[in-house]
Amino acid sequence: MAEKLKYQRVVLKLSGEALAGDKGFGLDFAVIDRLTDEIRDVHRIGVSLGLVVGGGNIFRGTVASQQGMDRVSADYMGMLATVINALALQDMLEKKDIQTRVMTAIRMEELAEPYIRRRAQRHLEQNRVVLFAGGTGNPYFSTDTAAVLRALEIEAQVIIKATSVDGIYTADPKRHPDAKFIPELSFQDAIVRGLQVMDGNAFGLCKDNGLPIVVMNVNQRGAIAKVVQGDRVGTLVR
Ligand code: UDP
Repeated sequence: MAEKLKYQRVVLKLSGEALAGDKGFGLDFAVIDRLTDEIRDVHRIGVSLGLVVGGGNIFRGTVASQQGMDRVSADYMGMLATVINALALQDMLEKKDIQTRVMTAIRMEELAEPYIRRRAQRHLEQNRVVLFAGGTGNPYFSTDTAAVLRALEIEAQVIIKATSVDGIYTADPKRHPDAKFIPELSFQDAIVRGLQVMDGNAFGLCKDNGLPIVVMNVNQRGAIAKVVQGDRVGTLVR
């Protein structure tokens, strides 16, 4: 099966909100069940898979700091939120007989391994899904940046950004019903047209290193598997 894949090694970036479902906050286990089914299907077809999960469903450093909290402390709280999400995903994936490892950018060895690049690569070679938690381990960054960093480090061929819209549009489709879907664009186009694909740091890292990004809808069944098999799903930025 693996030879039919367009991308053999992938980093999937899931925002915290993707785990919250309609509640918009916390964890919706029915949603996580469905998401982990998708992840299992992608893993089954032979994709070497790293997951980076956000924390926005629990805590966002910027929001808390706007309300008076110290930004650095707030960001660490946000990073901890990503660990909560990663453990929830790990639990559900292992119930589906997928071997996983959570690796954290901040040490907490009672519950997960510290992130070490070579160990992560080894886990992937052993067919384990690796969940990269704790973001970059640094305040003032985002899990988008963490996803790109890890993708570059493990030599993933693409970063798949799972969102709640089908891809990139000429304007926000939730607010502008006449917005047009863009199936493919270059990094330069995205900049010239002022399209926000990822946060600026993350996008710059992808551009500088030629790492393609696919932005797709996580609620569309089978979409992640289609992306890795080379079907036209979502928007490809390269
Ligand atoms: N965060 C951070 N450094 C990182 C990654 C995340 O400080 O490298 C903090 C930041 O406060 C952020 C929160 O963790 O608001 C949750 O991450 P993010 O907002 O990227 O999650 P998502 O929007 O993907 O759910």
